[in-house]
Amino acid sequence: MVTITWHGHACFVLEADGRRVIIDPFLTGNPRADVEAAEVPTLDAILLTHGHGDHLGDAVPLAKRDSAIVVAPYELARFCAEQGAPNVHPMHIGGAHAFPFGTVKLVTAIHGGAVEADGAGPYTTHPCGFVVTMGGTRIYHAGDTALTLDMQLLAGRVDVMLCPIGDNYTMGIEDAARAVDFVKPRLVVPMHWGTFPVIETDPEEFRRAVGEHARVEVLRPGQSCRC
Ligand SMILES: [Zn+2]
Repeated sequence: MVTITWHGHACFVLEADGRRVIIDPFLTGNPRADVEAAEVPTLDAILLTHGHGDHLGDAVPLAKRDSAIVVAPYELARFCAEQGAPNVHPMHIGGAHAFPFGTVKLVTAIHGGAVEADGAGPYTTHPCGFVVTMGGTRIYHAGDTALTLDMQLLAGRVDVMLCPIGDNYTMGIEDAARAVDFVKPRLVVPMHWGTFPVIETDPEEFRRAVGEHARVEVLRPGQSCRC
C-alpha cells in the first residue's frame, strides 16, 4: 500500500515503508498549495517531470535541506546539480531504476521542455511522466501531457493514475477520460486543474466522463488516499 497526498497542481507526496517521495514540488507561489515548502516532512527523493516553474518549484531548496535525491530527465537533473542539489540521479524516457524507496520508470509526455529558473540559461529537457512502484503499488504520474497513443503501452501495468485534466496546457476532460481508457488503472486522481483561472474545470464532470472505466478520487489539497 502507498499513501498518496495531493498538495495542489501536479504536486504529490507518496509514502510507503517509511520512505517519502515528492513529485513536482510547486509549493511556493502555488495559490492552491495547502503547505509551505518548509512544512514538508523529510524527503527521500524529489521527482521532476519537467523544468517549468510550476513543476520544478521548490525542488532545489528541498533537495539541499534533506540531501534528497533528485530524479529527473538528464538535462534537468544536471541543472539541479549545478544549482547545488547535492544528490541527483539523471534518467531518460524508457529507462527504469530501482532506488531504496522504490522503482521509477520514465515514460513519454508531450509538452514543452524549457527549464524555468534563475540561472537556467540554455537548459531544456524532454518532459516525462513517471511510473513509480512503492509499497507494491504502481503509480503513474502522467506529468503535463497531451493524450498520446503511447499511454496504451501502460495498460495493465498501472494501479493508480495521476492525471492532468485542466486543459489549455495539458489534456482536458475529454482527452483525460480517453487516457484513462488507454491506461486502465483501478484508481484515478485528477490533477493540474483549478490552480489558475485558465485551468479551472469541474472534476465531477471528469468523474462522469470516466464512468465505469475506473474509480475517480477527487482530492482537495492536503487530502490523501491509499491504494
Ligand atoms: Zn504544468
